[in-house]
Amino acid sequence: MAEKKRMTKQRKVILEVLKNTKCHPTADWIYDQVRQKLPNISLGTVYRNLKVLKEMGEIMELDYGSTYSRFDGNPENHYHFVCNSCDEVIDLDLPVEDNLNERAQEKNNIKVVNHRLEFYGFCEKCS
Ligand code: ZN
Ligand code: MN
Repeated sequence: MAEKKRMTKQRKVILEVLKNTKCHPTADWIYDQVRQKLPNISLGTVYRNLKVLKEMGEIMELDYGSTYSRFDGNPENHYHFVCNSCDEVIDLDLPVEDNLNERAQEKNNIKVVNHRLEFYGFCEKCS
């Protein structure tokens, strides 16, 4: 049986760091920030708690395959833009298209629960 996950002090601090940044940081970046408040925390503990927070639905993990995962303190579906040059991940001002799920379901004999959409190109600084 899955254990009920509690909001511990460590998880609270990690969540605060993520809610207070727009930069979609890596675990290493989060670790550096969290250490300023909890000096004895280890990188492994940060990784473990990120995994738990993700399972709790409090945060999102953005897996970009070859590069490190990025984390997002906004667990609601929203679209991202990734810069091909500086790897910055930006929240897009673009409403989520709920009817994409229905369109994907049509004729495909599947039940779509959600979708993920990423845009790539060059950010303002790099273009
Ligand atoms: Zn860029
Ligand atoms: Mn985001």
